[in-house]
Amino acid sequence: MENKPDMQNADEIRKISRRDALKYLGLGTGAIAVAGTTGTYGYKRSLRISSREAAILRKKKIVVAGGSIGGLAVASRLMRAVPDADITVIEPRTEHHYQPGYTLVATGVYRPKDVIFQQEDLFLPGIKWVKDYVEAFEPEKNRVLTRKGDYVNYDYLVVALGVQENWNSIEGLAEAMETPYVANAYKLESGIKFREMARNFEKGNAIFTYPAGYLKCGGAPQKVTWLSEDLWRRNGVRDNINVHFHTTRPSLFPVVPKVDEAVTPLIEKRGIHNHYHQFLRAINYKDRVAIFEERLPDGSTREVRQPYDLLHPMPMFRTPKPLREGPLTAEGIGGQLQVDRETLQHRRFPNVFGVGDNAATGAAKTAATIRKQAPVVAGNIVDAAMERPLSYAYDGASGCPLLTRYGRCMMFEFDYKGNLVNEWIYQSTKETRTWWNFKVHALKPLYRHVMMNGFV
Ligand SMILES: Cc1cc2nc3c(=O)[nH]c(=O)nc-3n(C[C@H](O)[C@H](O)[C@H](O)COP(=O)(O)OP(=O)(O)OC[C@H]3O[C@@H](n4cnc5c(N)ncnc54)[C@H](O)[C@@H]3O)c2cc1C
Repeated sequence: MENKPDMQNADEIRKISRRDALKYLGLGTGAIAVAGTTGTYGYKRSLRISSREAAILRKKKIVVAGGSIGGLAVASRLMRAVPDADITVIEPRTEHHYQPGYTLVATGVYRPKDVIFQQEDLFLPGIKWVKDYVEAFEPEKNRVLTRKGDYVNYDYLVVALGVQENWNSIEGLAEAMETPYVANAYKLESGIKFREMARNFEKGNAIFTYPAGYLKCGGAPQKVTWLSEDLWRRNGVRDNINVHFHTTRPSLFPVVPKVDEAVTPLIEKRGIHNHYHQFLRAINYKDRVAIFEERLPDGSTREVRQPYDLLHPMPMFRTPKPLREGPLTAEGIGGQLQVDRETLQHRRFPNVFGVGDNAATGAAKTAATIRKQAPVVAGNIVDAAMERPLSYAYDGASGCPLLTRYGRCMMFEFDYKGNLVNEWIYQSTKETRTWWNFKVHALKPLYRHVMMNGFV
């Protein structure tokens, strides 16, 4: 069989020594240091402000809606600049999940506990935590209503509510998810179920889909497909399995043409059947048939019925209700926060800023994007508080560790136009073990200890 596996199974990958992990963390930090000096990678120096500016900021009440990576990266960055600033984070969850690790749980590389943090451990000292949901935004009154009925007033608001899977967006999806043949890596419990389904799968049709509209981590559906295919190859059952990837898009990774060109032949060589312009419309979970609508070149559509024995269906995504149904969004942007894509300031309410997945920037919805956005939001809040023009601009950059098979990853950064950034550092179009190890062992500590602590 082609592409002979170079590791026996995923468990082996987990057994990397602490020394190796530190080595990769060092490698990552080194790469960041090198790239940081180019000014393009995004790890910017901490926010430094004068004592006069700090005195002004100290009197401002900053509220952050959503205490995940976007909200905390901004809150921590501001708190580091002004240690006694008045910063409140509204976040209902007591458990934080490292979502970029979900694909690794579903593919057996991480254990579920590897992606769970206690929310209380994530706040820098001095940041106040309102453990509640935002029920409604009232930007004309500079306040937020919580689900328990309290008002939280602000001078500056950062909206970081993320986006959520809509399990009712496809007919039959919610019901199908309860059956033994269907699971999805975007939900931790379901990712664990998928891991077991994939491990035990020996023959039949394995169907993976890619949704319409926006999604978080546009590479995750592909990663799950490609690692599953590799797992079956390693398990010696690949010849009995038809692997199909159905995507609404015109190619595998159209957002970054150079990566698309590099990865497509590798995937096709592995015998994965890619179907483009196909939208999962419904699942007949009783007969185990996924029903797609295919858009044809002349604009017409046709129905494609695909029987499955294992299905990884992608739902559509939407923003949380107070955002999509509230005053901070606008027509035609899918319920996202209406921000200027460079300053990340709200287009109608200048004391409101957005960061992360919920912001309508058109950029990829990833933690890598937040690494570049958080310094912009924190810096522009300081500018706004000083009543001067906003001087920080987000350039649309994002990144993706595209896991192509066990032990191999393509790592790349790209801009708003889909051009590769720092291609020479990443060797972006090559599948390498170094970047696999970086993804598995270094990105989580960087997320937790660098980004969340406000060092970006
Ligand atoms: C399967 C998967 C794989 C991924 N892989 C990668 C990857 O390899 N690399 C990468 O960079 N990124 C990856 N991502 C994307 C990354 O996880 C997200 O981009 C990132 O988590 C977005 O952060 P956020 O703070 O904007 O939103 P989220 O992390 O979604 O957080 C939103 C927060 O808002 C809170 N919230 C929601 N509603 C309310 C409310 N009404 N009131 C108050 N709080 C509320 C939530 O509790 C949550 O804490 C992946 C994501 C998934 C799901």
